[in-house]
Amino acid sequence: MTKAAGIIDKQELSMKQCIKCKQQLNEGCFYKDVSRKDGLTNWCKSCVKNHRKDYYQTYCEEIKIRCNAYFQKHRKEILPCMKAYSKIYIQKNYHRRAWSSMICRCTDIRHISHKNYGGRGITVCQRWLDSFEDFKKDMGERPSPEHSIDRINNNGNYEPSNCKWSTMKEQNSNKRVRGR
Ligand SMILES: [Zn+2]
Repeated sequence: MTKAAGIIDKQELSMKQCIKCKQQLNEGCFYKDVSRKDGLTNWCKSCVKNHRKDYYQTYCEEIKIRCNAYFQKHRKEILPCMKAYSKIYIQKNYHRRAWSSMICRCTDIRHISHKNYGGRGITVCQRWLDSFEDFKKDMGERPSPEHSIDRINNNGNYEPSNCKWSTMKEQNSNKRVRGR
């Protein structure tokens, strides 16, 4: 891909309309889908999750019985695959996941934690909203899946001067020192 094409892609990706709820959302609010042209699902994460939940509730018993039967029958083959897959998944995605869930917490009103972030007026700086690469440049690689984005001032926004990587343990002990 040429550099110019990369820039165009980025602009097109930064906002996208969900065809289900019709909202304009940041690319972080969509799941990846390599089969689509822009690499993202047509439905936003919240719509996909709600749909799955509805589906699951409707067919709950049936799904459980079928899944369980399938699992019992194939458990010898399934278990090693599951372990290998979850390991790969965690390694591949944990860098980007911190960024996309930060954006959803602040911009998607249906996110489960929105009331504690976007709902409290916490925002993400434009530079980070626009680009995962810039976020990575400012923050550095996420050191491990145990690390999350820690806002130094708990009432401040997600921006380079107010954020660092910390483990939950570090965050909790810092909060006590800072005395929220
Ligand atoms: Zn949607």
